[in-house]
Amino acid sequence: MAAEPLGEFELIARFFTRPVPPGRQDIALAVGDDCALLQPGPGEQWAVSTDTLLEGIHFLPTVDPADLGHKALAVNLSDLAACGATPRCCFLALALPRVDEGWLQSFSGGFLAMADAHGCVLAGGDTTRSPQGVVITVTVMGVVPRGQALLRSGARPGDDIWVSGNLGDAAWGLALRRGEASADAAGARSAIERLERPQPRVGLGLALRGVASGAIDVSDGLLGDLGHILERSRVGARILWSRVPRSDGLRRRPDAEQLRWALQGGDDYELLFTAPAQGRAAVEAAAGAAGVVVTRIGEITPTGGLVLLDAAGGPMDTAPRAFDHFRP
Ligand code: ADP
Ligand code: MG
Repeated sequence: MAAEPLGEFELIARFFTRPVPPGRQDIALAVGDDCALLQPGPGEQWAVSTDTLLEGIHFLPTVDPADLGHKALAVNLSDLAACGATPRCCFLALALPRVDEGWLQSFSGGFLAMADAHGCVLAGGDTTRSPQGVVITVTVMGVVPRGQALLRSGARPGDDIWVSGNLGDAAWGLALRRGEASADAAGARSAIERLERPQPRVGLGLALRGVASGAIDVSDGLLGDLGHILERSRVGARILWSRVPRSDGLRRRPDAEQLRWALQGGDDYELLFTAPAQGRAAVEAAAGAAGVVVTRIGEITPTGGLVLLDAAGGPMDTAPRAFDHFRP
């Protein structure tokens, strides 16, 4: 006799229900009731963010489900990092065309490993059937001391502009997965790793509290995401292309690919932030404490939009901007 297909409630119990770790007084109640009950500490604010991943738009149907689980939470944790918030808990709304236990085992394993790595308790969610592809919506909640969140609106003229890690490898990885680019074996492995297993810069975000003036995570490309800081802070910026950090593998690609992937490519999940020029040593110390490399790529100007300069100091074209779901 064939086994009964797994129902919604067994599915939640089997793959997404675990005891709250001891010592977590902030999570009075997690999965199992109508609501989770949460409690921030005195003097703390909740930092809350939601992101949706759609099959065919944000991930390919062929992706390893463990990597997908990792990434679904990682991209949300990256938003907490950009605010300088400490992750506390998350909510997972899953819409699935069918119940595939092997897929769920891998997906939940990847998701919960990322959650454990950041002390982020899965406190609830929703499980439904999707008529078409997989839809994953994750909400994360973190805490910051009141008034200390890093915001897009904090950049001031004269501030340095910094970015963590390297940019462009994730977009290269996507082009590789689509068969639209080439790479040697080592380059391909690291570009695809950057695409499919991004590491949110949570430790760096925390270390930058009180150091950075403004911050955002690079999810949609450097130019577009810097544009968000400029708009919210009502300032301009000058960026030196030669300083934009790229991996050695990417630097061996043709110029046009480097420009496209490092400036407009999405999915890097690095932190882009500003800090007063007097604070350079503090930025370096924060990055050292977090174990992340940071690079100074330009400065905030009073006005003038976003100007990109080539090695000779001449302006370059910055016209094509970040990915926008409604403006292809
Ligand atoms: P309700 O009908 O009251 O919304 P549900 O039956 O949807 O309750 O969910 C039951 C419990 O399981 C709730 O605590 C909910 O937060 C949790 N839950 C549902 N789906 C998930 C999931 N994918 N991951 C984590 N918790 C979930
Ligand atoms: Mg529900």
